[in-house]
Amino acid sequence: MDVYMSDFAPATAITHLDNLRHNLSYFRSLLSENTRVMAMVKSNAYGSSAVEVGRELNRLGVRDLGVAYTYEGKELRTHGVSGSIMVMNPVPGDFPDLINHQLEPELSNMEILTKWVNFISREKIANYPVHLELDTGMRRLGFDNNDLGSLVEVLCATPSMQVKSVFSHLSSSPTSEKDAFTKSQFNLFEEWTALINRNLPKPVTRHILNSAGIVRFPEYQYDMVRLGIGLYGVGLESLSVHEDLRPVQSLYASISQIKKVSAGESIGYEQNGQLQSDGKIAVLNIGYADGVPRLAGNGRFSVRIGKVLCPVVGNVCMDMIMVDISNCPDVTAGTPVEIYGQNNPVHHLANAGNTIPYEILTGNRKRVHRLIAE
Ligand SMILES: *Cc1c(COP(=O)(O)O)cnc(C)c1O
Repeated sequence: MDVYMSDFAPATAITHLDNLRHNLSYFRSLLSENTRVMAMVKSNAYGSSAVEVGRELNRLGVRDLGVAYTYEGKELRTHGVSGSIMVMNPVPGDFPDLINHQLEPELSNMEILTKWVNFISREKIANYPVHLELDTGMRRLGFDNNDLGSLVEVLCATPSMQVKSVFSHLSSSPTSEKDAFTKSQFNLFEEWTALINRNLPKPVTRHILNSAGIVRFPEYQYDMVRLGIGLYGVGLESLSVHEDLRPVQSLYASISQIKKVSAGESIGYEQNGQLQSDGKIAVLNIGYADGVPRLAGNGRFSVRIGKVLCPVVGNVCMDMIMVDISNCPDVTAGTPVEIYGQNNPVHHLANAGNTIPYEILTGNRKRVHRLIAE
């Protein structure tokens, strides 16, 4: 398991491209042959490595990528990632950059749409692809009911604008208790896209499903789906597909020092930690500044050393944590430690931190080293 980690390595996030390949083919097997996959690589490919992941996706024939911000798209282009890249949340000041890097803006309200239309007419740009988002209930980005009339007017008046896709985003796709609401989102999407289609020269590409949506509502896959967390193999713990996915990201630290401590002796800040019996603790080279939530301290989370789960003792520090290794017979300074990954699922750390795997994955800080496992 520790093949990629050498002794005394700094805190290191490893991106397992083999698992990415596995997860992509798994999701493709759930979809019809003609359904395209837009792979979401926002926030550094969910905290892994957007450039390496983007290139691998290119090799695997994924032609559609999605990011949140323009600079994320620029970074991909600068490093040779090809295909279509949708930028979900651009600002008007980004327009020249979008064009220069062949990035496709999502336009999600009348104000930015109008600015875009003015921009392309001033610059004499025709047939440049854009994506429109409809707000069917998420109440985040997107045109809503009140905008539809004006949206259609602009579309009719601007034949030079190429609407490459129209999409919406589900707020509660994993959660069966919220299915009535999800259904209402599907219904609005169906109705609003039909109206838009009546006003465009040919039917537009449509998409609404994210990862959990793909698993639970394949009948709404339309022409494309937007695959995010599932591609990274985690985050779908409430669904049975979870068993078939493999984690793309793992996080390792290593042991800086080992100490014998006596039962009841206080350990760490505010004397919060202690062992019940005489034993040993290891100091690890990772802390909350590297993305381990402070809530994971005081026994709420265990790291994995070899086959043994070792609880965090006392408070999580900025740069280090202490763990109880009394049950680990043969570890030494330098031994690699799995914080999360193949053997210690990331949702354990997420649960300890009162959060979700998405936040843990994207929370790996700058100081964490990066390795790519082909
Ligand atoms: C992040 C995001 C996705 C991917 O969602 P997952 O739950 O990670 O699959 C899809 N669509 C939009 C608009 C997003 O912001």
